[in-house]
Amino acid sequence: MHAVIVAPLGGTSVILRPGSPKAIKVGGARFAEIQTAAAGDGTVPDWLADAAATQWGIALHDRPAAGNVLVRAPGPYRFSRATWEINLGCDYDCEMCYLGKKRFEGLDREGKRRLLRIIRDAGVIWLQITGGEPLIDPGFSDAYEHAHELGMVIELLSNGSRLHNERVFGLLTERPPSKLTLSVYGASAETYDAVTRRRGAFNRFTEGLHKALDAGLNIDLSLILLRRNAHEQEVMRAWANELGLPYREYANISPTIHGTDETLPSQSPEHLTQRTPFRGCPAGHTPIRSGVPPFARWAASRTSTWSRKESKGWPDSAVSPIPSCFAPEDAPAARCPARAGCAGRWPRSSRRRRHHWRTIANTEAGDVMTAVMVEISPTRTAVKEDAEAVVLIEDVDTLTDESLPGCGDDNPYN
Ligand code: SF4
Repeated sequence: MHAVIVAPLGGTSVILRPGSPKAIKVGGARFAEIQTAAAGDGTVPDWLADAAATQWGIALHDRPAAGNVLVRAPGPYRFSRATWEINLGCDYDCEMCYLGKKRFEGLDREGKRRLLRIIRDAGVIWLQITGGEPLIDPGFSDAYEHAHELGMVIELLSNGSRLHNERVFGLLTERPPSKLTLSVYGASAETYDAVTRRRGAFNRFTEGLHKALDAGLNIDLSLILLRRNAHEQEVMRAWANELGLPYREYANISPTIHGTDETLPSQSPEHLTQRTPFRGCPAGHTPIRSGVPPFARWAASRTSTWSRKESKGWPDSAVSPIPSCFAPEDAPAARCPARAGCAGRWPRSSRRRRHHWRTIANTEAGDVMTAVMVEISPTRTAVKEDAEAVVLIEDVDTLTDESLPGCGDDNPYN
């Protein structure tokens, strides 16, 4: 496996190490130097070896660049982050689950691999894999390893129920995710098991959590606050602090992907947060989603834009599901880019474009829709850098911190 990944990001480039939140930021001249070395028989540049030794304690001096450094090609769009719901299944049965009545679905092995290549080709550097519950997916390990091989930095969003399992634990310690975000549903067995409707779930979760902590995985916690567990809010906070883990709290629960609202009574009214709906033009700001029709429609109502692919499709030739008009730097398309052969004129106003796009997508929705959700988020920084500078970064999230208001920022399931 390559030691570091070098990827263009906005007007600069980042050097990343799989499993680490740290980064090195460099300008275009340095990127070109690495690219040349990796394409031929050059060695890792000394300045990179020095910086990598400082950041990650790895030895790259005099090593061949090829094989040690994976150079990512710039994507055609300014999108750097994606979230992939790898399946629609879970081993818990939470009352507030946005999946509603669960039916385990997901792409097959080759479908997953093709999807990952499409995401990579769209320019995605950071890929969050979630579900359902990703770690129960029989194709998870293959997809996870393939995503690494393609040069993406993986974050996992999980309920942590399988961390205690030796096989899962072995995979994650061999190829650590850069971040493992675990949902927490209570601070006692009684409450946690009641929320997840699985006896023994709390004990398995805490066992896996401690194993992951001991292995040094980079973990943060999502504390899910509900009517049923709100009385343990302070204990959950104290637990996270005691473990030395960062945490965020979520109390706003979504309707189900089927558009039904049986999840909403589980909310704790006094913990709900108010936010201002995003009303701006989403182009280049909010994510583009592709996925299960009802959820995509629901998401569309919140983001104003979405795209889709057929599960049996995902052709490699259609490198990206993103219509070119949404790429900020592209000139507006004269013809509708929503699907090949569409005779529709491409409206001038972005509002009408979104409407046109959605109409086509809804018309095509049918049984062949993919059973996964993909959300691709724009790059939120485009700072031009000094071509010679080598900047060490402790937490790469600070590079994309300038989050514009968007949909679902307060929802852990988005
Ligand atoms: S809320 Fe999360 S952990 Fe609970 S059943 Fe749904 S997917 Fe599983």
